[in-house]
Amino acid sequence: MNETKHEIPYKIYLEESEMPKKWYNVRADMKNKPAPLLNPGTMEPMGYDDLRPVFCDELIKQELDNDTAYIDIPDEIQNFYRMYRPSPLVRAYCLEEKLQTPAKIYYKFEGNNTSGSHKLNSAIAQAYYAKQQGLKGVTTETGAGQWGTALSMACSYFDLDCQVYMVKVSYEQKPFRREVMRVYGASVTPSPSETTAVGRKILAAHPGTGGSLGCAISEAVEAAQSQEGYRYVLGSVLNQVLLHQTVIGLETKTALDKYNITPDIIIGCAGGGSNLGGLISPFMGEKLRGEKDYRFIAVEPASCPSLTRGKFVYDFCDTGMVCPLAKMYTLGSNFIPSPNHAGGLRYHGMSSILSQLYHDGLMEAVSVEQTSVFEAAEQFARVEGILPAPESSHAIRVAIDEALKCKETGEEKTIVFGLTGTGYFDMYAYEKFHDGKMTDYIPTDEDLKEGFEGIPKFPGNLI
Ligand SMILES: *Cc1c(COP(=O)(O)O)cnc(C)c1O
Repeated sequence: MNETKHEIPYKIYLEESEMPKKWYNVRADMKNKPAPLLNPGTMEPMGYDDLRPVFCDELIKQELDNDTAYIDIPDEIQNFYRMYRPSPLVRAYCLEEKLQTPAKIYYKFEGNNTSGSHKLNSAIAQAYYAKQQGLKGVTTETGAGQWGTALSMACSYFDLDCQVYMVKVSYEQKPFRREVMRVYGASVTPSPSETTAVGRKILAAHPGTGGSLGCAISEAVEAAQSQEGYRYVLGSVLNQVLLHQTVIGLETKTALDKYNITPDIIIGCAGGGSNLGGLISPFMGEKLRGEKDYRFIAVEPASCPSLTRGKFVYDFCDTGMVCPLAKMYTLGSNFIPSPNHAGGLRYHGMSSILSQLYHDGLMEAVSVEQTSVFEAAEQFARVEGILPAPESSHAIRVAIDEALKCKETGEEKTIVFGLTGTGYFDMYAYEKFHDGKMTDYIPTDEDLKEGFEGIPKFPGNLI
């Protein structure tokens, strides 16, 4: 660095007293609300009573609330947040210098906790409401393992039982993730498993399958419904999860406002959409109310391109078709990304809120190939120091691309991106990248068609 003193610090840390006391519900400001969940049997919208057998009561209220703009964060959750928040908003001075760009780049870093990702923000909220309801435990699925880890931590804090169905390929590739969950007292079952009817059915149809998030969700839902005092919780996609993740965006906005910084572009990776939704919500609210304008960019893998190539229709959230139907951009619940895809973000669908915002032209989406994602990850790690998760690196890729465009045009745009987590458990993928064994796979239209065929057909659900 040439200068040693900057007007804007490397890291903007808020005081604990400046942390949000309420979550912001962007649905309150949306003209076109996200479509309601449908009962897969009757195709009727699901209300509070319909959802009670599966989800925790208070979380259902949050799920269905399209009107309340601000929802109080209970004190116990605020206290837990203080264990690892506020998270820093970092000015990527070193990356800017390396790229020789006039753009100003910031990232909000959510990897500073043991689970290594933003998922703890919602895990603690969901565990809290489960405990409040007097439940014995919760069940869930996990893919790469970050969600399972976060939920295990949250459950041990509230002394709740935690049963995790982990996608089998990840269970085998990431044994240490499994051990972290066990440190926090969770039980971890590779999915599909023989422990549920739906698991046995999937195994019979696809012997030797490595599983998918959709399969693991079906198993976790069945496990919740078949045990007294248990409910199912989910780490992304749902409105409630996106709501809890708004602590990311609210802190980001407070930090930027302190220094009178207005972003031009806000970028996030999108799997089920929770970190991106949480990051952009307060800014999207301003855009929806006509107060300010921003560009929002969702970044997804080219091998699992739900926003950029999916259909905006009602679809199953899981492979076993036991969950409610959600209207979202989807590749079909049977879609399983190519096994050579190592970069996370493998879910077939997308948050209904983000899907609606994208459909209404309020947000953009791009897809990127995994080798270029790992190139960006490494470029970032070498100058900024943090070893990023492959998921997060999708956002890094596009932040770098936008910064390089600024270099061409000379524009001094302000770019903010979400750095959702660290990649210590992803060294198998990094190894493939270093050994030149990582390939890019883009599904053909023919491949996608197969997935689309699994989308339920009923009047009004036009594919
Ligand atoms: C789970 C995860 C994601 C993707 O999930 P979203 O719900 O789309 O945010 C991104 N980054 C990391 C590190 C994750 O663990």
